[in-house]
Amino acid sequence: MATERTLSIIKPDATRRNLTGKINAVFEDAGLKIVAQKRAQLTPAQAGAFYAVHKERPFYNDLVSFMISGPVVLQVLEGENAVAKNRDVMGATDPKKAEAHTIRAQFAESIEANSVHGSDSAENAANEIRFFFAETEILP
Ligand code: GDP
Ligand code: MG
Repeated sequence: MATERTLSIIKPDATRRNLTGKINAVFEDAGLKIVAQKRAQLTPAQAGAFYAVHKERPFYNDLVSFMISGPVVLQVLEGENAVAKNRDVMGATDPKKAEAHTIRAQFAESIEANSVHGSDSAENAANEIRFFFAETEILP
C-alpha cells in the first residue's frame, strides 16, 4: 500500500472547545502523520468554494456559516492508505451513527458541528490539499 495524503480540517466546534490536541492524538495513534498544519479563519468565499459540491443541498448555507463561525485547523495527514484510514477514525457524518472509537462519536455536537472534515477520495484529497496548501508548506 502506497503512502497517501489527505486533507483534514478540525472544525470551529472543536477549536472552540479546545479539542485540537485530543483530535490530533487520535490521528497520530492511528499512524497518520501531520505533515502540514495551520490555524485559519475561513472567509465566506473560501468556505463556499470548498463545499461547492454541496451547493444544491438544503444545509449548504448553514454549513458555510458554521465553517466561518470561528477558527479552523487545516491539516495534511500522511500515511499508508491515509484517505480511508482518516475516514475510519473520523466516523460517520452523523455522530449518532458513528462507531464509539471515532472522533465524531467522542467529540461531535451534531450532524453539522461534527468536529472534523476529511477528504473522501485520493483525487479529492489532492484538490483539497492544493486548495489550502502550497507544496512548500508540506514537510513529511
Ligand atoms: P462528510 O464527508 O462525512 O463530512 O459529510 P458530507 O460530505 O456529506 O457533508 C459535508 C458536511 O456537511 C458534514 O461534515 C456536515 O458538517 C454537514 N452536513 C452533512 N449532512 C448534513 C445535514 O443533513 N444537515 C446539516 N445541517 N449539515 C450536514
Ligand atoms: Mg464529504
